[in-house]
Amino acid sequence: MLRPIVLYPDPRLKMKSKAVLQFGPELKELAADMTETMRDACGVGLAAIQIGEPIRMMVMDEHYDQEDKGESLVMFNPEVLAEEGSETIEEGCLSIPDVREDVERSFKVKVKYRDLGGLEKVSEFEGLLARCVLHEIDHMNGQLFIQRVPAVKRLFLKKQLDHLKKNYQEAVRL
Ligand code: ZN
Repeated sequence: MLRPIVLYPDPRLKMKSKAVLQFGPELKELAADMTETMRDACGVGLAAIQIGEPIRMMVMDEHYDQEDKGESLVMFNPEVLAEEGSETIEEGCLSIPDVREDVERSFKVKVKYRDLGGLEKVSEFEGLLARCVLHEIDHMNGQLFIQRVPAVKRLFLKKQLDHLKKNYQEAVRL
């Protein structure tokens, strides 16, 4: 089921999400909803808080560049064990439509997480997938990628963000 994406500057995006301790069947349904919502919006990853669920959970399409994306990767309580290298490329966020900015992040990450069955896994990701994992972990900590944009560049962003704030205020007033 498609779920509405929580949009900036919704205060929920500043929430710290809680660790998942029980792996019941309802999480499979939530993962399916998140995957459908992410793909509908042409995203590569999505954190649960972006559909209003404040739990440490994310989905990511490892085969985002292929026609048949297969199953999405579902990760709970992801934790970075090691990071390597750095890369600065343009980044966006489904919760901050039409805003893109260069962000520096590690090129490679080693991540510990739990899968849908609650089993502990360790995986390594590179490039865009590493960036995606780090971006979603930021969401779980109430952080947005625009906070990682250097202050000088953030001035440029202000106009776009003000526009989103205005739209948001108009929308919630209805
Ligand atoms: Zn995002």
